[in-house]
Amino acid sequence: MKIRADLHTHSIGSGHAYSTIDEMALAAKQRGLKILAITDHAPNMPGGAHEYFFYNLRALPEYLHGVRLLRGAEVNIISQNGALDLEPEMLAALDVVVASAHAVTTPENLTKKQNTEMYLKVIANQHVDILGHIENPIFALDYEAVIAAAQEHGKLVEINNASFGLARHGSYNNCLEIMRILKERNMPVVINSDAHVATRVGEVSRAMEVALVQGIKPENILNLNAKKTAEWLKIKLK
Ligand SMILES: [Zn+2]
Ligand SMILES: [Zn+2]
Repeated sequence: MKIRADLHTHSIGSGHAYSTIDEMALAAKQRGLKILAITDHAPNMPGGAHEYFFYNLRALPEYLHGVRLLRGAEVNIISQNGALDLEPEMLAALDVVVASAHAVTTPENLTKKQNTEMYLKVIANQHVDILGHIENPIFALDYEAVIAAAQEHGKLVEINNASFGLARHGSYNNCLEIMRILKERNMPVVINSDAHVATRVGEVSRAMEVALVQGIKPENILNLNAKKTAEWLKIKLK
């Protein structure tokens, strides 16, 4: 089963990723994707793109190599009050916003309760579309509470293929727990590559396999369908 939209990818604009947007769009086309979101790291990530990089994403064409390009960002959760590292006006201008906690940008010494409260604030942010890689065991979360809030606010919870390649202790079991709750709640999910190089764009086979085995229904995997994905994000396709 192949995704038609990859909503979390990084270009050289991220500072620690290795392909141009042109190379990524071409790779997306070759993999049969209809939609590719470029979600470079926001400024607080070391080497992340400057605010003006996101402002000027409007210079990109809507279609490149026949693939609908989405102007996005992977913003960092930078404080316990759920603050993000791009201004709301900037986020409002983007097609897709992935919000993530990262070891280098997000407070690391909070309790599970504090992390969960931090996430509830991020979920309440109207500009956030997707919660990125919440399985990261560095940030313990009450997954029941976080996923319930995501459902209530219409946010997508991502299953991140890159997490399956990590030796990070606990990521895999957290993914299973997240999938169990998503399944129970019959929620839409997205399975993204988090590619940092063109050859990984659209590559989600491991995450897809596990999600299906865990009982996530294909009709709930939003990005198997380009049209449904576009409708969810309120973007137009040709
Ligand atoms: Zn990330
Ligand atoms: Zn990422």
